[in-house]
Amino acid sequence: ATPTAVMVATGKGASQGVLIKGGNALEKSHKVNTVVFDKTGTLTVGKPAVVSAMLFPKFSMEELCEVTIAAESNSEHPLAKAVVEHAKKLSQKFGSQPEHVTEVKDFEVHPGAGVSGIVGDRRVLVGNKRLMRVFNVPIGPEIENHISETELLARTCVLVAIDGRAAGAFAVTDPVKPEAERVVSFLHSMGISSIMVTGDNWATATAIAKQVGIQKVFAETDPLGKADKVKDLQVKGATVAMVGDGINDSPALVVADVGMAIGAGTDVAIEAADIVLIKNNLEDVVTAIDLSRKTISRIR
Ligand code: ADP
Ligand code: MG
Repeated sequence: ATPTAVMVATGKGASQGVLIKGGNALEKSHKVNTVVFDKTGTLTVGKPAVVSAMLFPKFSMEELCEVTIAAESNSEHPLAKAVVEHAKKLSQKFGSQPEHVTEVKDFEVHPGAGVSGIVGDRRVLVGNKRLMRVFNVPIGPEIENHISETELLARTCVLVAIDGRAAGAFAVTDPVKPEAERVVSFLHSMGISSIMVTGDNWATATAIAKQVGIQKVFAETDPLGKADKVKDLQVKGATVAMVGDGINDSPALVVADVGMAIGAGTDVAIEAADIVLIKNNLEDVVTAIDLSRKTISRIR
């Protein structure tokens, strides 16, 4: 595209809340035939909320809430915020001081898995099954059933372990964005296929994909794994746009032919991207590709 055409198109994009970082991004967008979407915060609203708490035998709700609040208060993860908020409300019901947060020692983040730390004299883990497996926490058939039931409802099951034993679980929902299904179907009509990639588990991921009409899913994928999936698609000949919001998406945003960041996402994602969707609306994935197609076809 000529510099003038690029200027006109980027100006037009900007006025619609689609920030295109230069001519290369615009040029490449018209060839996109595959869009890879991150799940949490991209296809979903990204404001998870706890819908239920489950206590396992021999533990008290007060203790479950105390250690969960202590450990998760140190985490930046959206799931952690939802869990802390819910545990605080619950513990208030049991007469605890809502402002009181027990101190945590040796706090550690396990990316894509959860957090760990020492609360008082108890070893505490909060996270998914993978985290429990790494620390050798036994998950019996009853807990296994509870996890499956939670995940089939498209909810994420956050497990809590105290001193090596499963103490309880929180079921967290994160609704899909209202426009997500429409966008996937519109992309399909443009000849573009949609794929989901996520760090979350297979069952939850598949349930969410079904809700938005995505048939191809990669789950339980770490940040570098997300980038590898994009590379695989490119090797097979696809021109890939990656849409994401998190630090965990930034390697994939860089590798993709066109990286698109959700405006409300983390700074790292916004920097890694070629296009920023300021309005946080997935319709603008279509806007960007459409703008590029129109600009390029006008030139040729
Ligand atoms: P996504 O790729 O969908 O944005 P992440 O890679 O951030 O998800 O996290 C993957 C999974 O790791 C989560 O679904 C959750 O099960 C677990 N997890 C990560 N951090 C935490 C945390 N602070 N508390 C509880 N669970 C967590
Ligand atoms: Mg995300």
